[in-house]
Amino acid sequence: MSHQSDPYQNALVQLDHVAAVLRPLYAESAGQLKKFETAIKRLKTPDRMLKTQLKIQLDSGKFRKFLAFRAQHNAARGPYKGGIRFHPNVTEAEVKALSTWMTWKCAVTGIPYGGAKGGIVVDPKLLSLTELERLSRAYAAWLAPWIGPWVDVPAPDVNTTGQIMAWMVDEYQKAQRAKLEQGQTAFEVNPLATFTGKPLGLGGSEGREEATGLAGVFTLIKLAEKLSQTDHKKISVAIQGFGNVGYWFAYHSAKAGFKVAAVSDSKGGIYEPKGLDPEQVLAAKKTTGSVGQTGLGKVITNAELLALPVTVLVPAALENVITTETAPLIRAKAVLEMANGPTTPEADEILATRKIEVIPDVLANAGGVTTSYFEWVQNLQGYAWPKTEVISKLKVLMDQSFDQMWQIKTTQKLPGRLATYATAVKRVVDAMLLRGNI
Ligand code: GLU
Repeated sequence: MSHQSDPYQNALVQLDHVAAVLRPLYAESAGQLKKFETAIKRLKTPDRMLKTQLKIQLDSGKFRKFLAFRAQHNAARGPYKGGIRFHPNVTEAEVKALSTWMTWKCAVTGIPYGGAKGGIVVDPKLLSLTELERLSRAYAAWLAPWIGPWVDVPAPDVNTTGQIMAWMVDEYQKAQRAKLEQGQTAFEVNPLATFTGKPLGLGGSEGREEATGLAGVFTLIKLAEKLSQTDHKKISVAIQGFGNVGYWFAYHSAKAGFKVAAVSDSKGGIYEPKGLDPEQVLAAKKTTGSVGQTGLGKVITNAELLALPVTVLVPAALENVITTETAPLIRAKAVLEMANGPTTPEADEILATRKIEVIPDVLANAGGVTTSYFEWVQNLQGYAWPKTEVISKLKVLMDQSFDQMWQIKTTQKLPGRLATYATAVKRVVDAMLLRGNI
């Protein structure tokens, strides 16, 4: 794996850049500086890296093993929190990087969590529904001793859904019941508060499914103000990725009056400078199988999408999309990162030199985990909030986080990513120092 495509190396390079910005703040005494360096060093390795081979029976009767991970990065600010990804390209390095970014992300909006991430190396499209259920249950059964409302709270990520969370809740509850039946005290007794991103019918929260995309549009609205363009139809967006995040981002962008000029999925995309209707694209994709075959715009590749003459480029799929090869070709004024880790540190420098504004992942896509936090609070209280309450609370935290980033960026003349990451890492380091265990 080349340096640029190893997401964990990228997360560590980012942390070094942030540490250089923060160091002067801890320099009042040699003792304080030493503690700061120790905290940064600790943040370079997840607290715990769990991995296993999950063996499940396929419909054919044969057994197959799948490699599975959970990285628990840091819990200084609260229980570990983060999604579970089902994807053939999942690696240990990716899960470690994603868990690190979760630690920063939770600190950005100030929700009381640390960071974690899980993953299984699998192409879920090749499994039947029953095989998918068996694999999801096997994962939850394996992870059960390590999770709980006050320990680690998993959620959906790429290719995982509310239904998968529902199976996992059930499996986790089975493991808890088994402990009780053996006369052991079950450590945790609230299975619903152990997973977020659940279906509405099983303890899910109003607004959670669309939250990441919708909250990304809250940041797009703020960005438009900063670009001095409040006439949304004059702002065009190209969105790479049409999963949960990409679709809901497209949907809410169009609803807020922005022009959705291009969308794509893993097979390719479409470009329509006059603007696409995301609902129509989704309906057509359901029949044709891919965005590129919907006939709703000029067919383009994912590489072509990155270089389109749009106002805002929105990577909403996987890591390492904006690299030293693709960054020089970008024609957008700004990049709004709805994916986790789409830009390599080297590409970041190119974007900075080219004066392309970056709204970084841990801010732009923080709406998902923030709404997960609201779901968890509701589950702990056994009280469901109406959607308006969820969305208005989400908007307050997103707008506040954006304003904080912009203020630090302008007063300290830092790129958006560094301004956001520095705020987040400082909150985590301060929590570690307050604990006094360094
Ligand atoms: N997987 C989402 C993320 O990357 C959500 C995590 C969560 O809700 O815990 O932020």
